[in-house]
Amino acid sequence: MGVPTPGLSIPDSRSTVSVSVIDSTSKIIAKTGIVVQPHIQGHDEFNCPCYSFLITHPASGRKVLFDLGIRKDPENFAPRTRSFASAMTIISERNVADILGKNASTITDIIWSHHHFDHIGDPSQFPPSTKLVVGQGFKDEFFPGYPAREDSWILESDYAGREVQEIDFNASDLKLGQYSAFDYFGDGSFYLLDCPGHTVAHMMGLARTRPTSFVLMAADCCHHGGEIRPTQFVPLPESIDFNSPRDLTRGARRAPCPGQLFVDVHPKRSRTEPFYELINPRDLDTVREATRSQRKLDEFDANDDVFVLSAHDSDAAEVIDLYPATIDDWKDPGKDWKKKLHWLFLRDFQVE
Ligand SMILES: [Zn+2]
Repeated sequence: MGVPTPGLSIPDSRSTVSVSVIDSTSKIIAKTGIVVQPHIQGHDEFNCPCYSFLITHPASGRKVLFDLGIRKDPENFAPRTRSFASAMTIISERNVADILGKNASTITDIIWSHHHFDHIGDPSQFPPSTKLVVGQGFKDEFFPGYPAREDSWILESDYAGREVQEIDFNASDLKLGQYSAFDYFGDGSFYLLDCPGHTVAHMMGLARTRPTSFVLMAADCCHHGGEIRPTQFVPLPESIDFNSPRDLTRGARRAPCPGQLFVDVHPKRSRTEPFYELINPRDLDTVREATRSQRKLDEFDANDDVFVLSAHDSDAAEVIDLYPATIDDWKDPGKDWKKKLHWLFLRDFQVE
């Protein structure tokens, strides 16, 4: 047992949204050492998907996409983004608009969690009536897009002819957990959370899929479970019951697996601290800020009513149902996806 889980101060509401997780067909393969430290045996590379989330608000009929994965024509990235992406292997077969087909024309809002290529996709594939929503400080930092500004990360065509809304987290005193929050539909069904550190204007989304259960789209607050688990709230257990077909293909992981095996490969031999620390030797202030944001996420991840899904969770697809299904009932006893997913990242580590 860990220390008691802190309250999150999420206001009561009966209003809900429906959430589907879209596999954007994008993939990123990158050395773990460009994001986290220290190296842990067996986990040399991230090989991860890029999820886009479809949020449907029944009360208004609005349909919102939270992130768009990688555009299928990366040769058309803004030059600065192309150079940034060259440090990794990227694959993208389809745009989210292609996956949605005729439903793409019904999307009313696109929310960018942040400006990186693996989240912004190609908004020009959506109708001009589709609004683009960005985090606080985004326009100052990134507008105008390329080619109007040679060194911009984004393209002018990403937003040309459409409304762009920048979220103002100072507009209210609302705080959920320790994050500043914005009540997107004004009825408590969907919140944006200000999550500084990974980049300027980085946001997460918190969707109420049932009156008392939530999906937290954690964007790039973390890229791997080892950045946020274990914690003082949810320590590494004595034994871990992996229960997934992939366990067999990876071999040597019979259930239940003693937790001690993972304590032995933990850099601090700890049951209550995450395996990884963030790395960015060029900007220590940013790393400190991003780490603070991760510690705030711990409180949500420890809460039984909140299902945390990062944009790049490489284990989620074998546990959850993907688009066109919804994940609204993730907490149903027959599913219990939060528990099933929580420790799956440990399989990336090689234990004796
Ligand atoms: Zn990302």
